[in-house]
Amino acid sequence: MEIYYAEGNKKVGPIGKAELQTLIKAKKVTPKTLVWQPGMDNWKELGVFVRSRSGNTDQTKTPSTPVKRSVCSECGKTLSQDEMIRFQDSWVCGACKPLFIQKIKEGVSVAGAMDYAGFWIRFGAILIDGLIMWIFNMLIFIPMGILMPKSPDNPFAVLSFMPLIILLQYAIPAAYDTWFVGKYGATPGKMACKLKIVVADGSRLSYLRAFGRHFAKWLSSMILLIGFIMAAFDEEKRTLHDRICETRVVRK
Ligand SMILES: [Zn+2]
Repeated sequence: MEIYYAEGNKKVGPIGKAELQTLIKAKKVTPKTLVWQPGMDNWKELGVFVRSRSGNTDQTKTPSTPVKRSVCSECGKTLSQDEMIRFQDSWVCGACKPLFIQKIKEGVSVAGAMDYAGFWIRFGAILIDGLIMWIFNMLIFIPMGILMPKSPDNPFAVLSFMPLIILLQYAIPAAYDTWFVGKYGATPGKMACKLKIVVADGSRLSYLRAFGRHFAKWLSSMILLIGFIMAAFDEEKRTLHDRICETRVVRK
């Protein structure tokens, strides 16, 4: 407890509870002495101050355990957190809760609840994934090239490896996307950019959805990357594959 008291026209303090009691015993401070504490609007007589504090137990508790308050992400009112529900990093008040839950169920964008990642940061994440994939390919295909049988009399021997090479070129990126997105909610490139992929309601993707999303990305690439560029113009920064798979890319 920090308290100030008036001595003539002077403000003395801050003093603690023990010091105050000593002063009361010494009659230097009486019930008529004006006291003030940070947070009080006006000076009060000590007698009145003590009565107001002991009369209301809540008030005495308040300074030690301040009630945490948050802003409702829907209506913008500031309320105590006990009266609100939490959704990811947002708080929603009781009044807005039914409508909010309805919105989540319908998969409508939840204002403020999701911080959608923009086009350029996602582009950065793709570049990082591309680099990782390139290194990975080199690690696989260079040794393969070295180990391939080289017989000058049979130039077609190399061709027999083609189906395997083609398969790997499709399978590696698909496995990379499916495994990382299914397990961690993000590829290493997205993790590096502090992004994650979520379903419209904010939950994590299943492996199946992650796998489907990988192939939906093909579609986005096939139409001259327009599927990717769409994110720059979408309110929720969705690419074509996000639309198909009902996913969003958000900042962590
Ligand atoms: Zn509200």
